[in-house]
Amino acid sequence: MTDKTIQELAESVNSPVDKLLEQVRHAGLPQRKADDVISTTEQEKLAAFRQTTTGAKLGSGKITLKRKTTGTAKVADTSGRAKTINVEVRKKQTFVKPDPAKIAEEAKAKAEAEAKARQETELKSKADAKAKAEADAKVKQSENKAKATLEAMRASQKKETAKSDTKTAVVVKKRNSNAKVEIKKVETPEQRKAREAQAAQLKATEEAARRKAAEEAQQRTLEQMRKMASKYNNDEHTTTVRVIDDSPLAAGLVGQAYEDSFAQEDREIKRGGGTNQRSGKKGGRNGQEEQSFTKNHHKRGLKTSQSNKHGFEKPVKKQVYDVEIGATIVVSDLAQKMAVKVREVIKALMKMGELVNQNQSIEQEIAALVVEEMGHNPVLVSETAAEDNLLEAAEEARGEQTTRPPVVTIMGHVDHGKTSLLDRIRRSKVAAGEAGGITQHIGAYHVTTDKGIITFLDTPGHAAFTSMRARGAKATDIVVLVVAADDGVMPQTAEAIDHARAAGTPIIVAINKMDKESADPDRVLNELTAKEIVPEEWGGDVPIAKVSAHTGAGIDELLDLISIQAELMELKASAEGAAQGVVIEARVDKGRGAVTSILVQNGTLNIGDLVLAGSSYGRVRAMNDENGQPIKSAGPSIPVEILGLPEAPMAGDEVLVVNDEKKAREVADARADRERQKRLERQSAMRLENIMASMGKKDIPTVNVVLRTDVRGTLEALNVALSELSTDEVKVRIISSGVGAITESDVILAESSEAVLLGFNVRADATARQKADADGIDIRYYSIIYELIDDVKDAMSGKLAPEHRETILGVAQVREVFRSSKFGAAAGCMVMEGVIHRNKPIRVLRDDVVVFQGELESLRRYKDVVDEVRAGMECGLAVKGYNDIKALDKIEVYDVQTIKRSL
Ligand code: GDP
Repeated sequence: MTDKTIQELAESVNSPVDKLLEQVRHAGLPQRKADDVISTTEQEKLAAFRQTTTGAKLGSGKITLKRKTTGTAKVADTSGRAKTINVEVRKKQTFVKPDPAKIAEEAKAKAEAEAKARQETELKSKADAKAKAEADAKVKQSENKAKATLEAMRASQKKETAKSDTKTAVVVKKRNSNAKVEIKKVETPEQRKAREAQAAQLKATEEAARRKAAEEAQQRTLEQMRKMASKYNNDEHTTTVRVIDDSPLAAGLVGQAYEDSFAQEDREIKRGGGTNQRSGKKGGRNGQEEQSFTKNHHKRGLKTSQSNKHGFEKPVKKQVYDVEIGATIVVSDLAQKMAVKVREVIKALMKMGELVNQNQSIEQEIAALVVEEMGHNPVLVSETAAEDNLLEAAEEARGEQTTRPPVVTIMGHVDHGKTSLLDRIRRSKVAAGEAGGITQHIGAYHVTTDKGIITFLDTPGHAAFTSMRARGAKATDIVVLVVAADDGVMPQTAEAIDHARAAGTPIIVAINKMDKESADPDRVLNELTAKEIVPEEWGGDVPIAKVSAHTGAGIDELLDLISIQAELMELKASAEGAAQGVVIEARVDKGRGAVTSILVQNGTLNIGDLVLAGSSYGRVRAMNDENGQPIKSAGPSIPVEILGLPEAPMAGDEVLVVNDEKKAREVADARADRERQKRLERQSAMRLENIMASMGKKDIPTVNVVLRTDVRGTLEALNVALSELSTDEVKVRIISSGVGAITESDVILAESSEAVLLGFNVRADATARQKADADGIDIRYYSIIYELIDDVKDAMSGKLAPEHRETILGVAQVREVFRSSKFGAAAGCMVMEGVIHRNKPIRVLRDDVVVFQGELESLRRYKDVVDEVRAGMECGLAVKGYNDIKALDKIEVYDVQTIKRSL
């Protein structure tokens, strides 16, 4: 800073000279003219002064901030030499300070405008008030007029009401409120006339409707009375009076004795009806109250005309439902269909002398009475009407019938070679390319022979055959009875014969294990003859094939016999039209949902078809054949596995393709209802049984069972078989049963109900196992139906003879699968529990369900072959004869020991 003249300073601070001079003066400095010199100290003084005052006293209300930055930049000139240039960057920002005078002026203007507006509003509201007063007076006047008219209307309607009807009061009230609403609008005389004309017309229409309703109501009541009379005339129960008690005509008949009970209800009505103004709101009451209002109303209407004094004014418009009733109906369902509370229905039933709870089902006839009693229309339907129609329609749509392949079930005693025989047939007849999928288990497969296709059902055990038949499904055309040549007729052979006979299914005998030295087919034939199975070669009618599942000898002959038998039977079906079939088995797969195996019996099943199976329906999303190959359609006698049903149906359930989703739902719902009814009946029967048991003999020993299986077919078979074991002295009670792995809740249930926990081809998951170990619950695993049943039988008779029993030694989980053409599939595993032994039997579990049973091919730690691997270590293994191993599968190593049973 140097000494400057005021002029120079003014220029450097960018301020007019006179303004600066003024500031100089205010700062108490001596300079007064533009060319007066101002020293550096004075300049500083002035700057300080300017800083405190700028913009406040002396400024224009505008602050300008300037920022100047200087720097250098290097650039190359045209000759290429570097050159440094100084760069100055200036930024300028201006803030405007509001002018107080201006603000004051604006505020004043605003206040003035507001005051003016207020004044105007006041004037206006005064005018309004005046207008309103005038209008009110007018309204009052017309209201009075209307009142008079209404009075007259009411009087005239009362007269009519006294004659017959019950709803008049409601109409009056309605008219009243209508009138009020309209009167409130200020109207011209023309408008009024038009309105009155309209009202008169409305009145006439309502009058007509009311009369009709009254007539109908009376008709219904009479109808009801007639029905009741005919039912109760022959009935000696004193409940008759109670029944009529609530009905309108009866009320009149029974008379004074019931006045008391009505008095209470009348009081309620008075309370409700007395508050006219609120009538609009009351329209929103629930159906229940409306119901009772109507009922009471009826009662009074019929009893005495004076009851109209109550001025019943509730604008009730009761919904009358058509209530469909099958052969039986569950009480709670009935209530739901009428949209009333269950307790109302139970009350009505009590009055009829029927004491029921909401879960019980009542007969069609009684349900119909209740429905009528509650003012709805009972519609009696045959339980199976909807599905009968569907079936009929499907039947009609079917084309010409042609020969269809036979469906065969293989039966016989355990270990006589059923599985081996099925495998043999399958392996020998299934084209090589499809062999990879042989482990697929869909409960059935078909093979092609020289003489045509044969379909084999591969359902577990005889009980499955029977339970399927019990569900009305006749899936099997021919039974192949396997008898081991070295063992002869055994208990289950005899059982199989009984089952086949009971079903009227022809039998073909396959004497198996003919390769064995100890084979003695003649002994077998002798024993069979004793069971009235007389071989053709001995003059009977039963074809016999001598086979070996091991060598394959005689298999073709057996297939020929089957084809000949089928020809004799002239099995026919049509491949045209909507498919119909039967559920072979169904399970729920973690990733894919319900997987359902179906045997098509008629028509053709296509992808995208809407399938109804039991009480479940859905579109076929995907369809596989028994080799796991995707297919698009399947004709008669062809088994398929479909995806797309929302839940697993039961083995033996009928399958039908429908084209109307609504119908499918209807039938599915009806079936679900039926199932539920049956279940409820069973449950209450069970309870009753318990009560009786505890009343009579004190302690009937009971074997409680909690059961889990791999597929539904087995589940049903076991449920039936176990239930049938019950005798007078010992009972078997299945506390719970289901498909899938044993879970913690099963263990808890087994513990609390002191039940035995049985798993068939399923295992307990980790938490369940821990819980079972901790609680000392014994979980027993089986893979042979017969053994499971025998164990329960033994438990019942208390003779728990020592037997061989499995212990799980170790479990390993597959982490990764390596495939090589030389060794097949090798699995990299982690041992989760126990010890994996190379030389013990193993099972492969997928989602805790057994998918393979056998032994290990090899067991390695790194490159070394080892005998055992302990928990927490990794190992590599291969399963003998099984290449379908997948990551996350579990390998379970077990041992069979002889120990004392402790069921
Ligand atoms: P299943 O219980 O009736 O299904 O009988 P399996 O098919 O499991 O067979 C039981 C046992 O008999 C197995 O060890 C088979 O290897 C054996 N087996 C089955 N068929 C034959 C056969 O034709 N010859 C011989 N020697 N053994 C057989």
